[in-house]
Amino acid sequence: MAKFEQARETLISQLRSKGIRDERVLAVLGRTRRERFVSPKFEVRTYEDGPLPIEHGQTISQPYMVALMTECLELTGDESVLEIGTGSGYQSAVLAQLCREVVTIERFESLSATARDALRAEGHRNIRFELGDGTIGVREFAPYDAIIVTAAAPRVPESLYQQLKLTGRMVIPTGGADVQTLQVVEKRSAGPSIRDICGCRFVKLIGAEGWQDHSG
Ligand code: SAH
Repeated sequence: MAKFEQARETLISQLRSKGIRDERVLAVLGRTRRERFVSPKFEVRTYEDGPLPIEHGQTISQPYMVALMTECLELTGDESVLEIGTGSGYQSAVLAQLCREVVTIERFESLSATARDALRAEGHRNIRFELGDGTIGVREFAPYDAIIVTAAAPRVPESLYQQLKLTGRMVIPTGGADVQTLQVVEKRSAGPSIRDICGCRFVKLIGAEGWQDHSG
């Protein structure tokens, strides 16, 4: 495994120079073995700072985006976090090391199963795996201190906002099907407070409060 250590260090210095400041987030990315979540086909590109294809036309997010979204959640270690879009499980691995519990939901069973195997093999025991439409959240374990949506939504799903604790934060890419704005939504007693972070590109969030599925 020493084979990837240097590459991981180089990636962390790139993330620093791109503006990631949270030392806890950097430390976690510095020890999370991304190679365990990437298809062997793309092994040589594991530590490039870019997204990579996974099954079902989906992607493992770019490390910079994983770091930025995690930083935006301002986790302190005791939170319950809901993740929409398990995908490869890489983002879940990062979150699991920074909070008390992660509930992650995926619509493709095979992606969820592969991610679960990788995450268990990496020793993560504080992740619950759910299958289904995450646009309506996971009511059973709500409310959450933080919610992270790792697919592009046309707008903030109302169900997700409802499942956020008061003062809780959600990070979500919203906008068109091709380009979006990464937003941080804070739940306040007076209503949502929304901050735009940057432009971004994610695969579509498909479901009742997301985009419609046209894949047949
Ligand atoms: N967090 C992932 C990113 C995967 S890409 C990672 O680190 O690898 C986004 C994922 O969201 C895809 O796997 C896609 O299938 C999933 N997705 C899209 N719409 C969804 C929905 N309504 N509910 C749950 N998962 C969804």
